[in-house]
Amino acid sequence: MYNFVIRNVSNKYDCEELIKVFIPADDFRAWTEDEWNALTDEEKVPFTEAEQVIFNEEMHDDKNHVKREIFRYMSGLTGTHPAWGILTGVRPVKLTGEIYDRLGSEEAVRMELAETYLLDDEKTDLLIDTYNYQQEICGRPDPKSVGIYIGIPFCPTRCLYCSFTSNQVGDSEIARYLEALKTEIAYVGRRMRETGLWPESIYIGGGTPTTLTAEQLDDLLATVKEHIDLEKCREFTVEAGRPDTITYEKLEAIKKHGIERISINPQSMKERTLELIGRSHKPGDIVKAFQKADWVGIPMVNADLIAGLPEEEPEDFENTMERILALDPENITVHTLAVKRASRLIDVDKDFHFKQAERVKRMLDIAKEKLKNAGFRPYYLYRQKNMAGSFENVGYCKEGTPCIYNIRIMEEKQTIIALGAGGISKMYYPEENRLERVPNVSNYEIYISRLEEMLERKEKNIFMEVI
Ligand code: SF4
Repeated sequence: MYNFVIRNVSNKYDCEELIKVFIPADDFRAWTEDEWNALTDEEKVPFTEAEQVIFNEEMHDDKNHVKREIFRYMSGLTGTHPAWGILTGVRPVKLTGEIYDRLGSEEAVRMELAETYLLDDEKTDLLIDTYNYQQEICGRPDPKSVGIYIGIPFCPTRCLYCSFTSNQVGDSEIARYLEALKTEIAYVGRRMRETGLWPESIYIGGGTPTTLTAEQLDDLLATVKEHIDLEKCREFTVEAGRPDTITYEKLEAIKKHGIERISINPQSMKERTLELIGRSHKPGDIVKAFQKADWVGIPMVNADLIAGLPEEEPEDFENTMERILALDPENITVHTLAVKRASRLIDVDKDFHFKQAERVKRMLDIAKEKLKNAGFRPYYLYRQKNMAGSFENVGYCKEGTPCIYNIRIMEEKQTIIALGAGGISKMYYPEENRLERVPNVSNYEIYISRLEEMLERKEKNIFMEVI
């Protein structure tokens, strides 16, 4: 057990997150100096037996300086040197863009990432390549453009690692939800036209949207097209998610409405793993789902994979990678397993991610090499807390097929209007380079009963704010 006191910081959050990259949260306590001094001698007793370390004795004002001191100490203590240095944020590509704007040259960005943030060369290259590619693909968003997210918070069963809004309910409940959702779509579509906003991209996610029947999906997509002006829309995605929910009829409904992009999420091609993580499909269902998408003629398919799943070795991941590449998707998103607070995995083993670091590193190296050889390149990335080895999630794409919605979400320079239960809209204020969250409630029953209030929130915090 360690007891860390950090001098001259008012908020210790970043420092605590950095320490958690090295050791489990239960193995230490961190305090600002004020917090520590506010404890009585009696309250300090349980912690005085722990090893005491004081950071920032020299009282530096620069938080990054303090974080570098912590990084070096923890690195010496644990014998590890995490590749992302002192960066603990979710959006390192966004930070890269901000450094570019400030310093103006790639060389200066490289230096800042290495010296201020202690990134290793591989991560620096990844950030710079990804940022440059994003600028090449879509540049900065038009101020009147928005991204639209439509949430379907239902799945057939709940996965072990799930932390999303995912309900397992009968048909009548789903039908009730869709009625409310269609009202919200009609409202948002009308107000967007009246205020001059237009969708650059639309993403129907979940949950699993293909939990809906083919008729429900058809009806939902028809409602979107009826109310939202798609003339300038560059991209429309439906997350097909679980292969066990994908049928010809549903894919045909998607195709009929001109939607060119779906996501099929195998996660792994190992049958035992799929059982362990609570998926009710087999590897053969994944192959069939891809064949159906091909047969129906959906031109762009993304496949989500996870590195670090329970009981998987690098060879299993390599096998998954090869089998997915053979199915020829346009995008492959390689996630690193994260033990999230709302997942069942945290109850099984909350320190699972610490034990996986070495294995996951090998898996990510395999992914990088195989995808590069197959002509894919990274186009977006993000990080999460409690990721195995504190690595990253990377979206790879074949040339010319990136998902713009994913880029915009991470870039945070465009308003996102999110519809449905659990949807969190974000209003972007360019002058202040700031986002304001406008959430819908996450419980789908409360969403149905308080729909009027959700519309009022959007009216007040988004449409009334558009100049
Ligand atoms: S498919 Fe996705 S949203 Fe549904 S239970 Fe699994 S992880 Fe959660």
